[in-house]
Parts: sequence; C-alpha cells; structure tokens
Amino acid sequence: MKINIFFKGFIDAPTEIYKVQQLFKRIGITLLLSTEKDAYIKVYLTSAKDMKRLFNESHLQGLSVCDMETRKVYIHAMNWERTPADSDIQSHRDYRILLLVHEILHGFGLPHIDNPVCSTDPEPAPSMFQPSKSYARRGNFIVPKPLQIVLDDNEKKFMFDLLHSKGFK
Ligand SMILES: [Zn+2]
Repeated sequence: MKINIFFKGFIDAPTEIYKVQQLFKRIGITLLLSTEKDAYIKVYLTSAKDMKRLFNESHLQGLSVCDMETRKVYIHAMNWERTPADSDIQSHRDYRILLLVHEILHGFGLPHIDNPVCSTDPEPAPSMFQPSKSYARRGNFIVPKPLQIVLDDNEKKFMFDLLHSKGFK
C-alpha cells in the first residue's frame, strides 16, 4: 500500500524520516514523500507559540497533536528538540521516530490504547501509547528494541480496513 505524506520543517531530520519510512514498510505501508497538496497525511513541525494558539485545551499542553479529521499532524517543537522528562525513551532520535510513528498512526485512524493488558514479562510498548509519557508506569512495558511498530491484530485490521475504504490498495 502506497500513501503520500508531506513533512514541513523537519530539515534536520532526514535520518528520522527515513527510519519512519522503513518501519512502516515492514507493516506493508510505503510512505511516499509528496507535496502538501497531494499528501494524505501532513506533518508540521510547530512552534510552542503556534501550538498554544492552535490547541488551547489544558490536556493538550506540551503534547503533539493529530487532527484525525484533516489528518494533519502538529509536532510540538519543544518535544522535537528535547525528549519530555516523563518519557522513558532514552535516545532522543528514537523518541523522535516513535513520536512520528505514533502521530502518523493517528492519521491512519488509530486511537490511543486506554487499557493495556499487563503481563509478567516486559513487553514492547504499543505504538498507540503516548511516547511523551512513561511506558513503564502503564504496565510492564519497555521501549521496543529494535525499534518497531507495535500494533495488535485488531488495530491492524481496523487501520487497513479504513485505508481500504479510502481507496488505498
Ligand atoms: Zn496520541
């Protein structure tokens, strides 16, 4: 499945974007870099000031946001520059990659996971956990190593059904 994506403002991040493309390819989605006009998903690096202007609600402060209707992703510049203190992702590059993956998956229609199933052995954190908040405090979850997109079968089916309904093959 090929899906056009547009990135604006990420001039320092070709490595991160390439890695995101690799991770999506592994689950069967080729993200093609395109113009804003032709893109299904649009990702904007957004200043703290603009984030505050666009998303005033208190629960959104300091977070990146995906408008799931327009499929526009706004990456909070403050977090893009520094991993939030609450996150347990050690590598800032990994944080950036997992943040982009998470927000793009919102753009593909996936909501957050609210009630994770805990197990005794540590498990890679689902992609639909907010990467800006601690994984470990939500159960026995760790940063996925190697980096990967972690979705369960229901999430995958939901996402691909939705994309098929939008005409993607
Ligand atoms: Zn989210």
